[in-house]
Amino acid sequence: MIDLGRWMAAYYASPLGRTLDLMVPSSAKRKVGAKRVRYIVAFRPVESQAEAVDTKRRKRSVKQEDVLQALFASTLPVRADDIVAKAGCTSAVIRTMEKQGLLQIETKLEYATTIAHKPHPEPTFELNEDQRAAVDQLDACLEKSEFSVQVLFGVTGSGKTEVYISAIRKAIAMGRQAIMLVPEIALTTQTVRRLQQRFSRVATIHSSMSASQRSRTWAAVASGEIPVVIGTRSAVFAPCPRLGLIIVDEEAEPSYKSQSAPRYHTRDAAVKRGQIEGIPVVLGSATPSLETWLNVQRRRHYRLLRLPRRVRGLAMPAMHLVDMNEEHRARPGVHMLSRAMERGLEETLSRGEQSVVLLNRRGYASYLHCAKCRQVLSCPHCSVRMVFHASTKQAHCHYCMRTLLVPQRCQNLGCDGTMVKFGLGTQRVEEEIGRRFPSSRVRRIDSDIMQTSADYADLLGAFERKEFDVLVGTQMVAKGLDFPFVSFVGVVSADTAMGLDDFRSEERKFQLVLQVAGRSGRAETGGSVVVQTFAADTAPIQHAVKGDFEGFARQELDRRKAMGLPPWTRMIRMILADGHVTKVRRAAEGLAERARELLAKQQIAVEIMEPKAASIARIRDLYRFDVLMIFQTADALMRAIAVMKDEGLLRPRVKSMAVDVDPVSLL
Ligand code: ADP
Ligand code: ZN
Repeated sequence: MIDLGRWMAAYYASPLGRTLDLMVPSSAKRKVGAKRVRYIVAFRPVESQAEAVDTKRRKRSVKQEDVLQALFASTLPVRADDIVAKAGCTSAVIRTMEKQGLLQIETKLEYATTIAHKPHPEPTFELNEDQRAAVDQLDACLEKSEFSVQVLFGVTGSGKTEVYISAIRKAIAMGRQAIMLVPEIALTTQTVRRLQQRFSRVATIHSSMSASQRSRTWAAVASGEIPVVIGTRSAVFAPCPRLGLIIVDEEAEPSYKSQSAPRYHTRDAAVKRGQIEGIPVVLGSATPSLETWLNVQRRRHYRLLRLPRRVRGLAMPAMHLVDMNEEHRARPGVHMLSRAMERGLEETLSRGEQSVVLLNRRGYASYLHCAKCRQVLSCPHCSVRMVFHASTKQAHCHYCMRTLLVPQRCQNLGCDGTMVKFGLGTQRVEEEIGRRFPSSRVRRIDSDIMQTSADYADLLGAFERKEFDVLVGTQMVAKGLDFPFVSFVGVVSADTAMGLDDFRSEERKFQLVLQVAGRSGRAETGGSVVVQTFAADTAPIQHAVKGDFEGFARQELDRRKAMGLPPWTRMIRMILADGHVTKVRRAAEGLAERARELLAKQQIAVEIMEPKAASIARIRDLYRFDVLMIFQTADALMRAIAVMKDEGLLRPRVKSMAVDVDPVSLL
């Protein structure tokens, strides 16, 4: 674990102390929730009764004699409480004996024992051929007990979780422990429950545990008594003494990247830990990250396992793309739901089946367009649409940071239509569906209204019990849920908000559409998906509708290669922030310049971009500037961090600076 901490500190440019501190929860260090337990570790016989003259003293000796008897019958150390019970005396007797020097007592901090679940019966189905092949391959890896990365590439509903379960079982049979990482606990309650049903002892580790739960779990895992750990990011540091397997489910999820220092990627930390411990690591996904996909092609330790079909011969859902530009031309007015979407919902409701309607989270931003000609207000200096900010009542360009007073009238020659705000939110979608289908029961899942994972579990439980018909939510609904009755999925907008794009946007869009599609038609009833977009002809949408990951990956990897972007290269993003915009700009420019000189002197090849205002240029009154550095290899990146650290470059004179290595987002 210390080796892992050293690597994290060096790679993610974080002080070693802080990194190690992060790896062990503070509650575990303080042993929160542990009780003091007194142990008798040694004793010597009491003086004989004959020597005890007065009766009071004789009576006491009788009790002490009983304690002695009990001690002779036990193996040391023994809990003082157990002896008290056996001897039928009070704990005062023990205390007296301790005072008289007859007993030696040591106090330990201990946790109440954790509860074991009874495993439920095994499912009745047999693994299919693809699953068997994957399981055989994983079994062989586990038997070899050496480092390797097994990439389980399986379409949604192909039975990946069953493959994980089988691998965990194998690891346990070999006397080892297993860690399974999931992106977000609130959205993976079903997976957690499945694991708890199938294994007798499962520890869960996630961010909303109480301090004492956390430290108790930590201790139980460290003692080796719990074979299976399932959890989010920090579970990758679970102190398993006999770790034999790490699984990273949905490895492409951005939530695996920590957004506070050290900004580690859980998947990459898992792979590093696997390498250090010499054990196999399984990365599972329906849409592997391009990082992983490229590693499969280039690295010796990586191996691809495919589950190309859904289980039980289920078909992939029928995908239907709606070009919203066309839709708007065909049907004037602002309609959130296209005709195809309405039809899909209507048919599903009439069959008594369930629907999921989903919105891209970033679709929350409002933009402005002309009610008459539909021209969207764009920045005069950049080719991006401007975003309306309610706080300033102005239109902002997120690229050049210019703002505009919102014109009342369309500026298009001879149009003069009224400019209107147009934006989407889950609440509006919920209302719209309620209005359109008054007898339907619609509920909304939303991080703004749901505080705890129990809230999610309640809502999802109700949906599972078919207590309502339509679940509306942001893209997080897309992740990992398995609802047998959902036969229709509608994506209200597959587009990112205008101007909020970075080099990973294409990949995200592709993943999003494919993931939501996977939520539909998990039962024999089949399913259909409607995807609304203003960018129907773009590569990510086109590939996603065909369910063609490999085609998309090929094209996107070519594009990234041509541009010298990750995963072909490694990136560091430094975000400097300060209350004074000139100060932060100068600091960023100074940093870039000094880094250029320093790294040239050290002969470390690097490309350093001109510092520019971050996409979100001001947060909490601090102006933000980005310095992006691109390296050809991880090794060059690490050497660069080391020399920049030594020269004090990582501590510029601004209010704050974050170093983000392998950023998952440039926003
Ligand atoms: P994935 O994780 O790839 O989306 P799951 O492992 O969740 O897929 O499997 C989807 C559903 O199919 C689950 O309810 C699971 O119990 C079931 N299942 C898995 N393997 C099989 C199989 N071989 N035959 C029948 N049902 C299966
Ligand atoms: Zn602009």
